[in-house]
Amino acid sequence: MTTSDASLADLKIPLALNLMGGRWQPALSGQVLDVVSPIDGRVFASIADSGAEDVDAAVTAARAAFDSGEWGRLTALERGRLLMRLSARITEEADSLARLETRDTGKPLSQARADMAVAARYFEFYGAAADKVHGEVIPFLAGYNVEVQREPHGVTGHIIPWNYPAQMFGRSVAPALAMGNAIVIKPAEDACLTVLRIAALAMEVGFPPGAVNVVTGRGAVAGAALTAHPAVDFLSFTGSPEVGVMVQTAAARNFIGCTLELGGKSPQLVFEDADLDAAMPVLVNAIIQNAGQTCAAGARVLVQAGIYDRIAAEIAQRFAAIAAGDPRAEGAVLGPVISARQKARVEGYIANADAPVLARGTIHPDAPKEGCYVAPVVFGPCDPKARIAQEEVFGPVLCLIPFTDEAEAVAIANGTEYGLVASVWTRDGGRQQRVAKRLRCGQVFVNGFGAGGGVELPFGGIRKSGHGREKGFAALHEFSHIKTVVTNHGV
Ligand code: NAD
Repeated sequence: MTTSDASLADLKIPLALNLMGGRWQPALSGQVLDVVSPIDGRVFASIADSGAEDVDAAVTAARAAFDSGEWGRLTALERGRLLMRLSARITEEADSLARLETRDTGKPLSQARADMAVAARYFEFYGAAADKVHGEVIPFLAGYNVEVQREPHGVTGHIIPWNYPAQMFGRSVAPALAMGNAIVIKPAEDACLTVLRIAALAMEVGFPPGAVNVVTGRGAVAGAALTAHPAVDFLSFTGSPEVGVMVQTAAARNFIGCTLELGGKSPQLVFEDADLDAAMPVLVNAIIQNAGQTCAAGARVLVQAGIYDRIAAEIAQRFAAIAAGDPRAEGAVLGPVISARQKARVEGYIANADAPVLARGTIHPDAPKEGCYVAPVVFGPCDPKARIAQEEVFGPVLCLIPFTDEAEAVAIANGTEYGLVASVWTRDGGRQQRVAKRLRCGQVFVNGFGAGGGVELPFGGIRKSGHGREKGFAALHEFSHIKTVVTNHGV
């Protein structure tokens, strides 16, 4: 097994420091948290363990940048250029950032590289879009001019998870900055080093002080303080439904809006007329990618009865051939999950699953013993109401569910509390449209799944998957509000 790694010194990460008002500072308490790599269970860095006082300082810095600082005076074109410069710097540093992401999250290096391309793309897309969000003029009474203008909220608070730190930073922060908000982000304590490095790059390319502020630390402390802060104007959260409820409650108490992206149990529907050769690798990758720790993971494969045995046999064969191992190894497809806690959670689901095991992969014999490796498992046939087929496991665990006809497929697909993403595999054009229309979720792929980041494509869920839309132009609308200016100029 060959590995490549980078020393933290080479990567120039601001360790155990927060960014506020353009300056790097330790937590006021001086406390730090260990950063453990899931590859080998070793502590390899530390981050600031921030308290409410640090969050308050960061929000105050953002407030000043927005209300009276240089950031609030920049034109949309100037903001856009800064975002584009940051995109270029991420691309220049993509290799070292990817190696850092792999060390921090345990994702295979190839996936970390793809993540950096997506992170750069967010800043490119929203940099180019910054000066293309226009208002409207509404025809009204004689003697009046009515303009509808789009304005930034002010200070936006961002809480992101550990599964795609660099990508999530781009997805959440780039549209907010493009619209002119000053941001405070609390990344996840389990993985946030690339966020710190990209924030340092933002300073380097010339973002004015206070435009970008980063406070690391625990969710229940720093995260909760950010969501409750009265000077924050809007919240953007990605993570678990349980914390999503707390974020929405905090937003309600301060009478502000929020977007919630809370994961799912996304179905992939495979009909008998599908191109199975094209579908097969996608069906498996949709759950193996990032060790299943993807909000939009294709965790349920719904298969029409006539092809169930064939699909089950092929998927079983593919799963049995997958070994979880060191993500730095050449050609690695499945690394560890993020932490010992997550490994215990996933293994608990596997051990207590209320469905038969169809096939199980392995853990590579060279995988470091202290790492958080989980052998992938496919269950089937599953009762669609089984707990394992209903709840988000967030691990390399797939459920196969047979169905007889279109109506039953749609009912099973819609039969969880979630509604984030779905895919439909069929050559029948009418069925493609019918099923896409009936699926209750935020994104449907026909004859595919996922879109390599899909930066341009509005993304988000319904019900327990959350609300609000990220990505595409939809995110620019979330991170702004409209003001109607009515002028009586006389006739
Ligand atoms: P989490 O929701 O606890 O953490 C997500 C983010 O929220 C982190 O930055 C965390 O520090 C912060 N946070 C935690 N408590 C908070 C609070 N009280 N107030 C404000 N912020 C808070 O998720 P987790 O515990 O890391 O993972 C648990 C499960 O959540 C996973 O197994 C998975 O099912 C789900 N999850 C979903 C996503 C997604 O992309 N939708 C991402 C991560 C986890």
